[in-house]
Amino acid sequence: MTEPPFAALWDVDGTLVDTAELHFDAWSRFAADLSFPFTRADFSATFGKRNPEIIRQLFDPAAPDDKCHDWGERKERYYRAAAAEKGIELLPGVARLLAALAEAGWAQAVASSAPRENLTLLFELTDTTRYFSAIVSGDDVSRGKPDPEVFRTAAARLGVVSTQCVVLEDAVAGVQAATAAGMVSVGVTLAGHHSAEALRTAGAGIVVHSLETVVVGQLASLIAGRM
Ligand SMILES: [Mg+2]
Repeated sequence: MTEPPFAALWDVDGTLVDTAELHFDAWSRFAADLSFPFTRADFSATFGKRNPEIIRQLFDPAAPDDKCHDWGERKERYYRAAAAEKGIELLPGVARLLAALAEAGWAQAVASSAPRENLTLLFELTDTTRYFSAIVSGDDVSRGKPDPEVFRTAAARLGVVSTQCVVLEDAVAGVQAATAAGMVSVGVTLAGHHSAEALRTAGAGIVVHSLETVVVGQLASLIAGRM
């Protein structure tokens, strides 16, 4: 039987914060430095893909792994510079829900494909570091979402089982990963990259426009539904 403590596992990009414009700025600066063309259409066509795929699709189809790594690092440095320069805000409802879950004694972790350095900076800039007992980044897992590894690792680090967890996600691949990990999930459509229907089909137990409407009791009920 599932019993408290319950845990919330947070996706970051598109759920906790909307970082799309910072990624656009970073790729624009990267492309300008190397005199490559880079447009909004290029950005849209590669949004959500991993850096090596983006680099090969847009800039150098024959780029070997080490070049992809170096160029990817360069882009991520520009991303962190853009975040530090422009600042970043939590999406609506996030600050309240983080605090309410902490108040209710839930464990909270981050489960993101982003590099650890990016995540650390985002939590500093949004003053949210204290909420997370575990941070699982793209550096900590070998397989990205929709593989369940990132959520399983986060649950293990919190010392909870999958049936005690709820995942907060904006992406179809993320909801699929949660489902594959045996976890219930909430799909958030605000960032606008995935439709409510697609998130539901992927297995989301609840789909909301933003986290403003979500309360702790609702998440507990979602988990209890699995008991
Ligand atoms: Mg996301």
